[in-house]
Amino acid sequence: MKLAKRLSRLGTETAFEVLVKAKALEAQGRDVVHLEIGEPDFPTPSGVVSAANAAIEQGYTHYCASAGLTELREAIAREVSATRNISVDADWVVVTPGAKPIMFYLILALVEEGDEVIYPNPGFPIYESMINFAGGEPVPLPLLEKFDFRFDVNQLRERVTNRTKLIIVNSPQNPTGGLLTEDDLAAIAEIAVKRDIVVLSDEIYGKIIYDGRHHSIASLPGMIERTVILDGFSKTYAMTGWRLGYGVMMPLLQAHISRLVTNSVSCTAPFTQRAGLEALANAQKEVSEMVAEFRRRRDFIWKALNEIPGIRCVCPPGAFYVFPNIKSFGMTSSAFADYLLNSAGVAVLSGTSFGEHGEGYIRISYANSMENLAKAVERIGQAVRSLRR
Ligand code: PLP
Repeated sequence: MKLAKRLSRLGTETAFEVLVKAKALEAQGRDVVHLEIGEPDFPTPSGVVSAANAAIEQGYTHYCASAGLTELREAIAREVSATRNISVDADWVVVTPGAKPIMFYLILALVEEGDEVIYPNPGFPIYESMINFAGGEPVPLPLLEKFDFRFDVNQLRERVTNRTKLIIVNSPQNPTGGLLTEDDLAAIAEIAVKRDIVVLSDEIYGKIIYDGRHHSIASLPGMIERTVILDGFSKTYAMTGWRLGYGVMMPLLQAHISRLVTNSVSCTAPFTQRAGLEALANAQKEVSEMVAEFRRRRDFIWKALNEIPGIRCVCPPGAFYVFPNIKSFGMTSSAFADYLLNSAGVAVLSGTSFGEHGEGYIRISYANSMENLAKAVERIGQAVRSLRR
């Protein structure tokens, strides 16, 4: 079989590969603490589950419009307008199976051979994968520990050329938990407006913030018409397996992205969309409770990691990840992550799973119980003490 060349340019998400390695160890009888996968460990709110069951009973079990159910798109438009201080309606919204397809579709829709895309590095690996797949030139923008994993505006300016088609922003951020300030976003907006560049604003962790506030670049002057907001239900409502997300963009672009939905998956399961409607309307109390619990865990793990000699860890203001610096051990991030898995039974991800600027760091997802986090920190402490002996 002769595969298309473009397949050699497609990357992946190593979280799933580490999960397989960890499961193999468990099959041999080893106990593994899973801190590799980025998904809330809470159950989906029960009202949301009931709404999905009711929707199945009511017959929401057939094809629907590619862009999504009108009532959900209207609810999303109201929610996004209120939380970002903008004014959009249902014509701006495309509902997709998870938020990830919005990256896929948008990059396919915009990026041509040789177009440059600036994206955060370390960052969600699918950005780089999709830029390469579409034939674009990935231009990594380093996120710097010394700036609490924000970028240096001068480095951003140096990377903009007349081939820059798209800038990807993710705040709060995976894998660092970093949060961009209004000034950071204003710097990007100024460039985007002046140079006619589109911005993909990945706001999937927008409700999971402990310190500071979420700012959307879409609310800055001149940005609403050139921003695509990516958001969804996976992280906020503990609905990763339901596959429900959305993009918010100018109606002209929305029509093209909807056509990509028609060409690929036809539509998102309508009973899942009805569950999303319930989540937006009635699950905000559960969201606050989950965020409060994440905050408790963040406070615990960040402090506990900093107490381990040789590890240095920035306190992350958002998402549910910490990104500790492990450079003092003189190992690559990937070797260090393998060492933790094999010798301590703690599954984490190498910082380089998120790009070259992740070297020297590991990503820990603290979407796990306090008990398991305490066990993991204890094991990591022991494992690195034997390294330093
Ligand atoms: N964007 C970021 C930054 C993420 O970390 C993730 C999931 O890990 C997604 C988007 C995708 O979310 P979904 O599961 O809704 O496709």
